[in-house]
Amino acid sequence: MKKITDYLDCLFPNPKPELLYNNDFEFLIAVVLSAQSTDKKVNKVTKVLFEKYDINSLKDANIDDIINIIKPLGMSKKKAYYIIEISKDIINKYNNKIPNNRDELMTMSGVGRKTANVVLAQLYNKPYIGVDTHINRVSKRLGLAKEQDTVLIIEEKLYRVFPKELYSRLHLQMVLFGRYYCKAHNPQCNECKLKDICKYYEKKDK
Ligand code: SF4
Repeated sequence: MKKITDYLDCLFPNPKPELLYNNDFEFLIAVVLSAQSTDKKVNKVTKVLFEKYDINSLKDANIDDIINIIKPLGMSKKKAYYIIEISKDIINKYNNKIPNNRDELMTMSGVGRKTANVVLAQLYNKPYIGVDTHINRVSKRLGLAKEQDTVLIIEEKLYRVFPKELYSRLHLQMVLFGRYYCKAHNPQCNECKLKDICKYYEKKDK
């Protein structure tokens, strides 16, 4: 596993999320909005959304206005409902603070395990990995998980093979690696230093 972490450290020595945000609330909302979309699109939308709304005004927002702003992201009706409900919960139940544990986070609309893990890792430096589409693909290609593994099984397997103190850093690095190198289509295998341990490359090379 050291080979993987060394290579990711070399490619991404200072990994950061690509979602833009100014405070914890904006990060949570950006992660919720990013489902089935891209960080680039989310950043464009949140620039408009957070210029117009903060947590207090979002709680009382007209849902049609929110739908209109976030339309480019897809699932806009659902997402608009989620972020209004989340704003209400953060104010009414959590005293304006983003909860720092998964159970409370996951009681909120639109917050699943992956979103909760990403938020806890980023905002509270907790040892979690949020398995998204990139981590799913990279883990399977590198043989860290099996093709049929669910995201929960992949998450557990990653916890078993990597040191706990690296989880939140590894999460960011694997997402960036999947996004820019080990892409779904045309991964950059020729220049990849993991090809000698990569199951996908081994098969492709036969
Ligand atoms: S060799 Fe290709 S498929 Fe394997 S990890 Fe590297 S980029 Fe991804």
